[in-house]
Amino acid sequence: MRIAVVADVHANLAALEAVLRHAEGQRALDGLWCLGDLVGYGPDPGACIALLRRYPLVGAAGNHDWAAIGRLSTEEFNPDAAAAALWTAQQLTLEERGYLDGLPEVVEEGDFTLAHGTLRWPIWEYLVSQESAMAHLERQGTHFGLVGHTHVAMLVVEEEAPPGGHVYEPSRLVGAELSKGRATCRLSPLHDGQTVSLGDRRLVINPGGVGQPRDGDPRASYAVLDADARTITIHRVEYDIAATQKKMARAGLPAWLIYRLGYGR
Ligand code: ZN
Repeated sequence: MRIAVVADVHANLAALEAVLRHAEGQRALDGLWCLGDLVGYGPDPGACIALLRRYPLVGAAGNHDWAAIGRLSTEEFNPDAAAAALWTAQQLTLEERGYLDGLPEVVEEGDFTLAHGTLRWPIWEYLVSQESAMAHLERQGTHFGLVGHTHVAMLVVEEEAPPGGHVYEPSRLVGAELSKGRATCRLSPLHDGQTVSLGDRRLVINPGGVGQPRDGDPRASYAVLDADARTITIHRVEYDIAATQKKMARAGLPAWLIYRLGYGR
């Protein structure tokens, strides 16, 4: 059983099609797990929702999905993201809105918990720091977690704190006592072709973004979960960036959102 794990598709149909073609080549479409932000930013919200739903899809909601259906105010979005959310809202049919509205904040599938952001605040909070990662792991009832939202592929490994903690200043001895025996975690970026073994340690993995990567590599990012081999592998996939950019320009979407796709920022 091989499952494609995608996040942050962001209505980028060319990127989604390229990723699904690649996943097909990997025979990795026994399932399709989506970690939110199906829409927002990109020019093809309806077509992306329809294409994702052609597969055995398990999906969680993202902040842009909620913004597009009015479930989340765009006041805290930057002006470009807010403009794109407004545009997206105008494109969606009633049926598509209903579908996005029905996406859960958190989904459990066997050993995995799927969410857009951290389990402390699944719709909004970025899992980017040790603190947010620990807050997430404390709430993760399964062995493994999958998150999106940052658009950057990343691995979090839970570890035992070293004996006596790792705080050596005498003034912080109380802190050292407190951390004794407690878990800590390590965050590291994941690159194209990198494979993570699903072993005893509790993990959280971000497959990176399909429709708007932000790690300086403009290629779409996703992951293949091999349930038999117990591995997850990151894949970067080239797609026709110019085709998406042209559609965005035609739709009058903000210039920065068009430009950034070319740089993976
Ligand atoms: Zn996103």
